[in-house]
Amino acid sequence: MTRDAHDAHDAHDVHDTHDTHDIHDAHDAHDAHDAHDAHDLLMKNSSINKMKTIKRIGVLTSGGDAPGMNAAIRSVTRAALFNQLEVVGILRGYDGLINGKFRNLKSRDVSGIIQTGGTILKTARSEEFRTFDGRKKAYDHLLKENIDALVVIGGDGSFKGAGIFSDEFDFPIVGLPGTIDNDLYGTDYTIGYDTALNTVVQAVDKIRDTASSHNRLFFVEVMGRDAGFIALRSGIATGAEAILVPEVNTNLEQLRSYLEKGNKRKKSSNIIIVAEGDDAGGAYEIAKKVKDDLSHYEIRVTVLGHIQRGGSPSAFDRVMASKLGVAAVDALLEGKRSIMIGFMNREVSHVPFSKTIKYHRHLDDSLLRVADILTI
Ligand code: ATP
Repeated sequence: MTRDAHDAHDAHDVHDTHDTHDIHDAHDAHDAHDAHDAHDLLMKNSSINKMKTIKRIGVLTSGGDAPGMNAAIRSVTRAALFNQLEVVGILRGYDGLINGKFRNLKSRDVSGIIQTGGTILKTARSEEFRTFDGRKKAYDHLLKENIDALVVIGGDGSFKGAGIFSDEFDFPIVGLPGTIDNDLYGTDYTIGYDTALNTVVQAVDKIRDTASSHNRLFFVEVMGRDAGFIALRSGIATGAEAILVPEVNTNLEQLRSYLEKGNKRKKSSNIIIVAEGDDAGGAYEIAKKVKDDLSHYEIRVTVLGHIQRGGSPSAFDRVMASKLGVAAVDALLEGKRSIMIGFMNREVSHVPFSKTIKYHRHLDDSLLRVADILTI
């Protein structure tokens, strides 16, 4: 089974497990002759009850910002309003939850933001939320504001916090995957990844122009402390001569001999894409390690840095964020909680926070093979 197929299989299991669990509850609760009818009736009642319970939802962005978060906020807000729910925006992620930084959101408040990068709600990392006292303060604010459920847009750290909070205070939370790294288990894409990837591709294309004009060797560092998703795809898309990712051991000897061969073949430019978390070091470090053996090359290093986080989201990210935002509100109204709403095989997937925290998404083996074949 391929890794993707395996993930998809797991995502389906999640659906099944959840439904099975509900079915089991129905059987326990009703001593009915016709278990099927009892089950159907209870499912209907319980979803009606849950629909009534949730009247006001909160939405926040947490962890690193990513282009498309605004599209997600807009979608959650409008989907909630469509379902006659009130919506409250929480500023600066969990920090705003702890400090009561709330702002009511109406349809007009999310006008004109689908095309903007960053997040209108701001984002933050909160050490206090890691403590029980911090989370208790957050819960008290939610009670005071009559907020019945939360949508958290962020990465696996944010989901970890959300899962703990939800268990401690029996509070419904669903998550949307918002991070440029694309490293979340249970979704093929995270909101912001496609935009970041295209930003890298545009930048590397420009670097290629100047590299070819001067016969230079460029090491280009891209984001990815633990994962090489941006590096792998951008490397393939820009025809990079080598792609160095944390998931695959970097053999500098092999890299040197490869570059030597290129030199003999009189290649006019060489671009090496380096994920910042590569085991051999960042782009500067690797350039330093190989430069003495490659004295015939003029070596340059470019670290793309935070430009990868900014900019107008791609059409793909906007549409996916819109789809997932609507699905998040649907899930809350169906009584689901402690799940991430992902995008798997072009369908919405429901993945428990426990799985998004426990498992890591792996690089696509077939893409690694493509990279190997095309960089000869
Ligand atoms: P990115 O992938 O962009 O870094 P992230 O959501 O993984 O996003 P983190 O900094 O790991 O970013 O987590 C965001 C916030 O989630 C933390 O600042 C903290 O408030 C909360 N959080 C993370 N882990 C925990 C935890 N174990 N307990 C409680 N809260 C947590």
